[in-house]
Amino acid sequence: MENISEVAAYYNEKFCDSGPEKILEYFLNGYRGKITLATSFGAEDQVLTHMVSAIDPKSEIFTLDTGRLPEETYRVWERTERFYGIKIKPFYPDRNALERLVSEQGINGFYESIEKRKACCRVRKIEPLKRALGGKKVWIAGLRHEQSVTRSDARVVEYDEAFGLIKLNPLLAWSTQEVWDYIKRNNIPYNELHDRGYPSIGCAPCTRAVSEGEELRSGRWWWESPEHKECGLHIKESIKAD
Ligand code: SF4
Repeated sequence: MENISEVAAYYNEKFCDSGPEKILEYFLNGYRGKITLATSFGAEDQVLTHMVSAIDPKSEIFTLDTGRLPEETYRVWERTERFYGIKIKPFYPDRNALERLVSEQGINGFYESIEKRKACCRVRKIEPLKRALGGKKVWIAGLRHEQSVTRSDARVVEYDEAFGLIKLNPLLAWSTQEVWDYIKRNNIPYNELHDRGYPSIGCAPCTRAVSEGEELRSGRWWWESPEHKECGLHIKESIKAD
């Protein structure tokens, strides 16, 4: 096959009826050292950490520490490392870029406009993510169709144009109920904020609890309209748009 796009299409066809463990096993074995799981310690990421650790405990798992995460996220980070006996690789924002950003737009400038919010996400998330994915061929993410309108057209195996590699979404078809049944059944550690009305958890100042019936990601950047509710990590045109 000529390019990553064709490779992704081939895999997508091959695994269209497969469960997440089978997909993960194939890619973790086939791309050893070139595959990484991105975790923000949300419910889906905890399920994937559990599956990945069972298949290959040495496989890399990384997180982006934006410097604005809730204390509860640091707590589940620590509990996860202890529970699985693993170390999660942290990536931090570039110090110079962060100092420039905060000097120019203030510590909470992201509330003032979409442009300022994207600038903050770019420095604290996108640039560190580029470093995290450097040299990799596959990254695993916890996207699900149910999460939001911005994720409804995602595929289980897709070509991530923005970062130039295969992106794997093994839990794409899972319902919220399936995620939580799996967590409870396997006693997986999870972020305590989930019990306080936070279905989706990101940076503390940009996340809030949601009411019953609201979209799962409506607590993220709640002051923006739904089609803007991505930080750029999971949007193909994010790098160009920023
Ligand atoms: Fe900045 Fe908020 Fe984006 Fe975090 S989620 S990087 S605090 S704008």
